[in-house]
Amino acid sequence: MANWLDGKVVENRRLNDELTSLIIEAPLGSFEPGQFVRIGLEQDGEIVARPYSLVNTADEDYLEVYFNIVEEGPLSPRLFALHSGDDVLVADNPSGFLTVSGVPQCKHLWMIATGTGIGPFLSILKSEAVWQRFEKVVLCYSVSRGEELAYQDSIQQIASQHATEFCFVPIVTRESFADAMSSRVPALLQDGSLEQRAGIEINADDSHVMMCGSKDMIADVSETLTSRGMKKHRRRDPGHFTTEKYH
Ligand code: NAP
Repeated sequence: MANWLDGKVVENRRLNDELTSLIIEAPLGSFEPGQFVRIGLEQDGEIVARPYSLVNTADEDYLEVYFNIVEEGPLSPRLFALHSGDDVLVADNPSGFLTVSGVPQCKHLWMIATGTGIGPFLSILKSEAVWQRFEKVVLCYSVSRGEELAYQDSIQQIASQHATEFCFVPIVTRESFADAMSSRVPALLQDGSLEQRAGIEINADDSHVMMCGSKDMIADVSETLTSRGMKKHRRRDPGHFTTEKYH
């Protein structure tokens, strides 16, 4: 049973009317990059809480979660409206298996994110372990509009620190945008253009694929990978792709 930690909002960093990063001060202990934590607010004497992936690493000062408003949702509109200094609750038991420690030995790590699914990958990319384990790390980040490509400064910083090992592939699906690819990830895998852009193939011998975001994207990409002889990774039955959905 989790205990609730008292947290304070340090900043509500809005990207637009639907997307925001909430920066929270709370005494959470250690966690693995890629894990999520339950965030909650009291309502009528009860705690309403939902899981949110942590964008920060355990050695950063503040917790950070990146999310979109779910209009009819019981929590996200209220979290979205919080201001600096407001109270928020954080469960003390981070969990989840979208972590590098769970990935079997291989050469290339692919991270495929749609929308707010970018969050846990940023935590992983900011930590050291991922750069010690893989020859090449490819981050594919798909959004509908260019303005929804969040954390571009952080991603550019990671790219400059790991110029030879890191490849960032932005994908913008509803408008033409800078050097972004323009089709959804499953189509880019099927026509080979995603791997062409990254300069490496996805295959069962060399690759592990982590996915986070739209459940339909995860289902479609999983099907494509399965058709290439890859299988879902489970702790007791190692495979080639790891997914997480907390919809
Ligand atoms: P979105 O803003 O609706 O879509 C983002 C991108 O995904 C767009 O480029 C969109 O393409 C593309 N997309 C939508 N359906 C697709 C499909 N079937 N195949 C391939 N690409 C597809 O955001 P979202 O990705 O739906 O939302 C993010 C989800 O991630 C939320 O449901 C959130 O709860 C979840 N999330 C999970 C975790 C976790 O499990 N740890 C962490 C953070 C977020 P179009 O423009 O063509 O539609």
